[in-house]
Amino acid sequence: MTDAAYDYDLFVIGGGSGGVRAGRIAAQAGAKVGLAEEYRMGGTCVVRGCVPKKFMVYSSKYGKDIELSAGYGWSVGDVSYDHEKFMVGLHAEVDRLSAIYDRNLKNAGVDVFDDRAEFVDKHTLRLKKSGKTITAKKILIAVGGRPWLPSAEELPGVEHVIDSNGVFELTELPKRMVIAGGGYIAVEFAHVFAGLGTEVCLVYRGDTVLRGFDDEIRLAVHEGLKEAGVRVVTKCVFNSIEKTDAGLTVTLSSGTEIETDVVLMAVGRRANTDDLGCDKAGVKLAGNGDVIVDEWSRTNVENIWAVGDVTGRVALTPVAIREGHAFADTEFGGKPWKMDHANIPTAVFTQPEVGTVGISEAEARKTYGEIDIYKTKFRPMKNMLNGDQTRTFMKLVVRASDQRVLGVHVVGDDAAEMIQTAAIAVKMGATKQHFDQTCALHPSAAEELVTMRTKWVPEGV
Ligand SMILES: Cc1cc2nc3c(=O)[nH]c(=O)nc-3n(C[C@H](O)[C@H](O)[C@H](O)COP(=O)(O)OP(=O)(O)OC[C@H]3O[C@@H](n4cnc5c(N)ncnc54)[C@H](O)[C@@H]3O)c2cc1C
Repeated sequence: MTDAAYDYDLFVIGGGSGGVRAGRIAAQAGAKVGLAEEYRMGGTCVVRGCVPKKFMVYSSKYGKDIELSAGYGWSVGDVSYDHEKFMVGLHAEVDRLSAIYDRNLKNAGVDVFDDRAEFVDKHTLRLKKSGKTITAKKILIAVGGRPWLPSAEELPGVEHVIDSNGVFELTELPKRMVIAGGGYIAVEFAHVFAGLGTEVCLVYRGDTVLRGFDDEIRLAVHEGLKEAGVRVVTKCVFNSIEKTDAGLTVTLSSGTEIETDVVLMAVGRRANTDDLGCDKAGVKLAGNGDVIVDEWSRTNVENIWAVGDVTGRVALTPVAIREGHAFADTEFGGKPWKMDHANIPTAVFTQPEVGTVGISEAEARKTYGEIDIYKTKFRPMKNMLNGDQTRTFMKLVVRASDQRVLGVHVVGDDAAEMIQTAAIAVKMGATKQHFDQTCALHPSAAEELVTMRTKWVPEGV
């Protein structure tokens, strides 16, 4: 297969979720593969995204669980939390996982370069540290994204903030934190730090967090933040941040001033295409820096592809992995297939968490007109003895014409675990009758998904 005119059949830029999968599958199919990673193998997910974030979510739940265990007969002595100790454990696990990614690539025969790669032309890359020039027949851009921050002109004092990467470097637990943003990263960290004992204020420019999710899910999360003790300030942005003797003072667009120790900005992400040299290779970018691709992850240049967050499609780890796998199978494995971006299950690890697959009620009404809604809200069994008033909310969005389930939305403990399985049914085109015919599993919260029988009728109808 190898073309002697080039150093590599495939060169992958970026050792994150998408790049590592593509590199490994192409190498296993017999291609000569090189991969450059400028920071740490495993990328955002392993080093400063999903994995360390989920550990923080787990950690932040213990405090409340210990408190609630009294209802089950437990009495626990003095409780304390050591953030530094926890972070040592977290980073040890991240190091272990990152090393596994590195090893798996090398075991598959991929040449790994701990270096930054930039385009010289459409078949040539320069490695920045070593100065080495490499040629490749095919090139995959899998450089992911990074947190976006406003400039100092847009936000005076922005140099005092941290972004989501900075969260994983905090060795001390802040007493007070102000978070800007209403997306999933902002609300997840608001719960994490509130759970760990930080006084958290979330500032969001809209009126309800989690834009793009089902409206009732958004409301439930919004209320859940307040119940968790987070001060939620809506319809406001930051005007400035000032360093004071007492910490930092954030001035909001409303004129309100908030004293804090840490300011976390989680207001969006941008593709890592600055200085990548896409112009030298002739690769077209969108206005925001995303690489423009078609459904086969092909760019406008015939030997260059892009997968994962850099393409601005759906910024989730399993999506990047599948796009990378599809690319490698198609180009090197003789098994062409495309990533299907419909019905991707997704979770928001708030407390309680959100799990969702398919489309929202509003989107279904807009697209299909006539739809049936089934929903339920209940206090889960576990909370009956522990005094926790938190409720679980579930909603099924069903197309009236053929009873196909278009969306399943859950806010409650273990929602993510439930939705991964429900997603199989939705992907297969299950109808409400299939849900009804499925025997319940008792006692569980998930059984409510197959026992909702009464169509919801809006008030006044
Ligand atoms: C805080 C946070 C929480 C998240 N939580 C979840 C979650 O719960 N579930 C989920 O599915 N997704 C989550 N995500 C999103 C997920 O991490 C990304 O969708 C996923 O990592 C994208 O993979 P990727 O391969 O496209 O890019 P990345 O994983 O970002 O990998 C790109 C790699 O390329 C490297 N690179 C960049 N430029 C160059 C260059 N020129 N040369 C060499 N190397 C380069 C970077 O260092 C990086 O390692 C989260 C993200 C964040 C930030």
